[in-house]
Amino acid sequence: MADRAGSVLDRLREELKRLESGRQLRRLEQVQGIDLSSNDYLGLASDPRLKRAVIRALEQGERAGSTGSRLLSGNAEQWENLESEFAHYIGSEASLFFSSGYAANTGLLSAVLGPDDTVYSDSANHASIIDGIRLSKARRVIFPHLDLNFLEDRLRASPPGGHRFIAVESVFSMEGDRAPLREIAGLAERHGAELIVDEAHATGVFGLEGRGAIAEEAHPPCVLASVHTCGKAFGSVGSFVACSEVLKQFLVNRARSFIFSTALPPYLAAQVSASINIVREADDLRARLHSLAAALQAKLRAQGWDTGNSASQIVPVILGSNELALATAARLQRACFAVRAIRPPSVPEGTSRLRLSLNARLSFEDLQRLTQALGTATSEP
Ligand code: PMP
Repeated sequence: MADRAGSVLDRLREELKRLESGRQLRRLEQVQGIDLSSNDYLGLASDPRLKRAVIRALEQGERAGSTGSRLLSGNAEQWENLESEFAHYIGSEASLFFSSGYAANTGLLSAVLGPDDTVYSDSANHASIIDGIRLSKARRVIFPHLDLNFLEDRLRASPPGGHRFIAVESVFSMEGDRAPLREIAGLAERHGAELIVDEAHATGVFGLEGRGAIAEEAHPPCVLASVHTCGKAFGSVGSFVACSEVLKQFLVNRARSFIFSTALPPYLAAQVSASINIVREADDLRARLHSLAAALQAKLRAQGWDTGNSASQIVPVILGSNELALATAARLQRACFAVRAIRPPSVPEGTSRLRLSLNARLSFEDLQRLTQALGTATSEP
């Protein structure tokens, strides 16, 4: 027994050594300094109104724990009210709350995609979309990032039978670029495909009242479902799937991450509800965030850095090697910026980077100091 366990641990040690020598080892760290790595885009995670919502709910007698799955003892009126409130806000028929965005994507995709179906997935999609697709038995076509010609060719050639699905993020988490949703929806319509959009980084940031990138379109494209996480601009936790009533009922019956997992405690429903109200009114914070992002993109590009096609509050500085990304992040951390290096498998090999994610609490002076500390691309070793 001991020997066998030992050999497994040896294998794990080998793997960790391999990661370390490839400069890919990840460590849990607490990076201090000016926040340029969180997804707290509107700065709501420390907003006293969200804290008060939790305290009030607990003081009014809410349980500290939910005690079970929503299908057993964990359901609460608060969750049902919150789902109606969110659906009303986002403009969908219904919504279902999951305990995280990871759970929402894996639950949704693995439940909806059937073995005869084909799913077209952008190569830059988040791990939770990839894993949801892997858990299904659907045929997969991974198309190069936002290559709509490739996507259309493959849609044309798609095998008969089953349904087709296209899965994209509206704002890509590591690229900060935006999916041309109208064009993709047009392709979906022409080729009889259903569209699923992860709005994790657009919710609260884009669109009227922060409803997201779909809502921002003059004629919002028709989607089967959209995923709106609450751990980012909402400053909280969990995720809504916005969809039809039928899909909601189906997910309650088939989404395994929803069914077989303890519900979040109901005091969090009070917090997310407070977030929705704050986010709706936060046009000033959104405007500030967008101007900070535009200023940073312009400055970095002028200095010769590769920021990809960033068109959002997520601004990558693509450096190439793991070594360079780690060394540059360390240099900025010494200058008191909480910046993290992003390496494979989060991004493709050879595109290691800094992922600068902005929040509305930053000042233009912070960004000025950041770009000074970064220097110019040509002065890099
Ligand atoms: N989708 C995208 C695009 C994400 O970036 C993330 C989180 N980084 C998730 C889903 C998962 O959300 P959560 O952190 O709530 O699990």
